[in-house]
Amino acid sequence: MRAVSAHPDVLIITSRLWQTNAVAMRAGEEAMLIDSPYFPDELEALPGLLAGAGFEPDALVATHVDYDHVLGRLAFPGLALGVGEPSALRLREEPGATQRELRDQDAELYVERPTPLSLGQVQALPVPGSIELGPEELELHPADGHTRDGMAVMARWCGVLCVGDYLSPVEIPMVEAGLAEYRATLARLAPLVEAVDTIVPGHGAPQSRDAALRILDEDVDYLEALERGEEKPSLPTGRDTREQRGIHTENLARV
Ligand SMILES: [Zn+2]
Repeated sequence: MRAVSAHPDVLIITSRLWQTNAVAMRAGEEAMLIDSPYFPDELEALPGLLAGAGFEPDALVATHVDYDHVLGRLAFPGLALGVGEPSALRLREEPGATQRELRDQDAELYVERPTPLSLGQVQALPVPGSIELGPEELELHPADGHTRDGMAVMARWCGVLCVGDYLSPVEIPMVEAGLAEYRATLARLAPLVEAVDTIVPGHGAPQSRDAALRILDEDVDYLEALERGEEKPSLPTGRDTREQRGIHTENLARV
């Protein structure tokens, strides 16, 4: 697990699994944790690591409810998890699916957890909409297409945008819930990216504005190749791996 600061009030924690990012933010007297690291030792160390850097979360938020993003309560069992309305709907319509998928992934990786995941009383947040963090405001923007739910969290006051599983430097688009939806999300994200300094993808290193815009262009090109049904499209530099080719094959089967 790695921690980097993007701003005096923002700490980005990166898990050893898939470079999954969690983001701690503070404003005034309040702090919030967005998404989560994966491994039990990382979750156990997280409260101490955050407290040492002056972050004591009062709230948890997940950009979407894929199992690798919702583990915050394993580190902070006393806190409620806030998710966008589309995520709350997904949880209601697919009860237990997130926990089941986590169990399967844990089994594949031989990971044992001291306690099973309980999402507790999930709090539905308005998307599009906003929530307060101390004296500041976090904008919540819809970000579907990777999954049917998803939101981007925009902290305009500190120039940080958390996009969930989009604009990753290590993963090509995983199109699980519609090519048109995915494209619309990229179009919606573009002006948000333009307005910040740091973009935090769900997986992979935080990106500068220019780097994120380049990834966005590459992803638009990739979606075009996907729509054309190309079996061997050229994949962006750094993402042309056997694993990413496998994701492309899955995308082809879905669209
Ligand atoms: Zn993810």
